[in-house]
Amino acid sequence: MRIAFLGLGHMGLPMARNLAATGHAVTGFDVFEGAREAARSAGLPVAESATDAAATADVVITMFQSGRQVIDAYTGVEGSAGLLSVAQPGTLLIDCSTIAVDEAREAHALAEASGHRSLDAPVSGGVVGAENATLAFMVGGTDDDFEAARPLLEAMGRRVVHCGEAGLGQAAKVCNNMILAVSQIAVAEAFVLGERLGLSHQALFDVASNASGQCWALTTNCPVPGPVPTSPANRDYQPGFAGALMNKDLGLAEQAIALTGVDARMGMLAREIYRDFAAGPGAGQDFSGIIKTIREDA
Ligand code: NAD
Repeated sequence: MRIAFLGLGHMGLPMARNLAATGHAVTGFDVFEGAREAARSAGLPVAESATDAAATADVVITMFQSGRQVIDAYTGVEGSAGLLSVAQPGTLLIDCSTIAVDEAREAHALAEASGHRSLDAPVSGGVVGAENATLAFMVGGTDDDFEAARPLLEAMGRRVVHCGEAGLGQAAKVCNNMILAVSQIAVAEAFVLGERLGLSHQALFDVASNASGQCWALTTNCPVPGPVPTSPANRDYQPGFAGALMNKDLGLAEQAIALTGVDARMGMLAREIYRDFAAGPGAGQDFSGIIKTIREDA
């Protein structure tokens, strides 16, 4: 298959390389020359423009920072041609960026109105998952389009879940990350409370990891050094999953909460806590570093 891979940043370049390694004809493009240069050095063919890459592709994959960038690339800005107008009719557009549910639905509607097929397919697993092709994909769109995309997604990831119709991949991503934010804060608060009560980190870990407090934020991303040697706490909270990205995802959760009117008080509190965290050095630290703020404030 001829694949245009647009957005060759931290995630996009390793994903494009993994796809190319399976024998597909992958042509990349990024608006940033540094990213194009890195792609060339990695042996990936690079097009002159996004529309050049898309005009001859069977599949167009986008991996951008924001929903605005996705919609602008689809429609074109200030009179320039967009991907939707240059792509062959029936091209499959797969957006892997993390964007708001309503933006994803808008992107689907625009693609459909132009006679194309489309999927939202955000990922979790971070840069390490992108490099090792172990990402998890959460996909929204029709059954047929999902089946067409599945082999490509499997070349870049380990778990591919069809979550339902257009936008529901993003919905799954935003809901999962809201659980993660709330549980990471709860685990960090429990460790600080335990410290003040004289409880050792190991004793609390041994109890909670085998009891009803068990969760990923405790058993994989343990916010104190020691009990889980691979957790970011053991390397001074180097990410991992950076506070800035958690803050971004909680902003998308906030949009979804506003859209639906759900009384998500814990989610909104987590959104506030991580907005403050990401306004300082926390932006570049793993989000489990929130424990330092909780400890300082105690
Ligand atoms: P990044 O900033 O490193 O890469 C995005 C790239 O898209 C940039 O190089 C930018 O120049 C390019 N771009 C923007 N508009 C473009 C256009 N019209 N045409 C071509 N290129 C364009 O970001 P990233 O870390 O690779 O993340 C990408 C997406 O994946 C984001 O939505 C992010 O939230 C999500 N995500 C990231 C991680 C992570 O750990 N980095 C994990 C899960 C999900």
